[in-house]
Amino acid sequence: MPGKVASPERRVPRHYAGGVAIDLHTHSTASDGTEAPSVVVERAVEAGLTTVALTDHDTTLGWAQASDAARAHGIRLVPGIEVSCSRWGKSIHLLAYLPDPDDADLVADLARARVSRDTRLDRMVALMAADGIPVTLESVRAEVEDGATAGRPHIADALVTAGVVDHRDEAFAQWLGNDSPYYVSHYAPDPVRAIGLVRAAGGVPVIAHPWSCTRGRVVGDALVEELAGAGLAGLEVHHRDHTPQDVRHLTALARSLDLLVTGSSDYHGEGKLNRLGENTTAPEVLEAIVGLASGAAVVEP
Ligand code: AMP
Ligand code: FE
Ligand code: FE
Ligand code: ZN
Repeated sequence: MPGKVASPERRVPRHYAGGVAIDLHTHSTASDGTEAPSVVVERAVEAGLTTVALTDHDTTLGWAQASDAARAHGIRLVPGIEVSCSRWGKSIHLLAYLPDPDDADLVADLARARVSRDTRLDRMVALMAADGIPVTLESVRAEVEDGATAGRPHIADALVTAGVVDHRDEAFAQWLGNDSPYYVSHYAPDPVRAIGLVRAAGGVPVIAHPWSCTRGRVVGDALVEELAGAGLAGLEVHHRDHTPQDVRHLTALARSLDLLVTGSSDYHGEGKLNRLGENTTAPEVLEAIVGLASGAAVVEP
């Protein structure tokens, strides 16, 4: 049976520190992951993690279910969000750890992004259908859980379900990439604004995969410096989209700007090859994040 992508064998995390394994970036069906929040938490336990962050795109919808699962399964949960941002038409992802999920300004901005994502999905599907690609709005909507953040992966999933392609990857390569004629952008705040919102909500902002060049999201040194001045707390350096040279450069950049260095899998269930714990964050870095936060609390087992 075709899955969303090929499913490699699960691996034990590589970067342990003193029996602790911390993965600070995962997705569930609250956005474009393929597993429910509780299942992500169960998988994290199976993968040998001691701490996992749930960071769905532009939503805190999965926090409650993930928190219950974390308590039930004896793992620490760091509630987070991956906030979509945009600067000069370029997409930038901002991880926000432990913000107050009820902060009115943050909630309003996230809701605006999700509504805009819905409209944008409609437009992309209409453009694709008009060009003869066998996809319908209904089939795409059927892939999105109630209240979840809709994204291009859900269009890919509809094409997989219809048997048009075998995997999400294939749909992205053919039709859904940033340079595709069907690509439509959506509302996303400037990263300076987003950092302000996250900080005001007591959260800790970290740029996700800053050099994820494969997806056209290169956050240059000058922008990182600007964002550091605006209250950025860290850079997600250890991520599968970064080469060893990228990691060296970003580590030095983080050091020079006094930014925290994090690492994560960016797990999307079967939606991507990324495996839980393939990159991790040092315990002292998580401690620093928790020390900076004043919004939500870490969920202890
Ligand atoms: P969107 O948020 O709707 O702009 O879609 C971007 C999301 O698509 C990212 O967060 C990734 O999770 C996912 N994505 C991007 N490229 C691929 C790919 N080649 N295969 C699977 N998922 C992808
Ligand atoms: Fe994603
Ligand atoms: Fe991302
Ligand atoms: Zn992500």
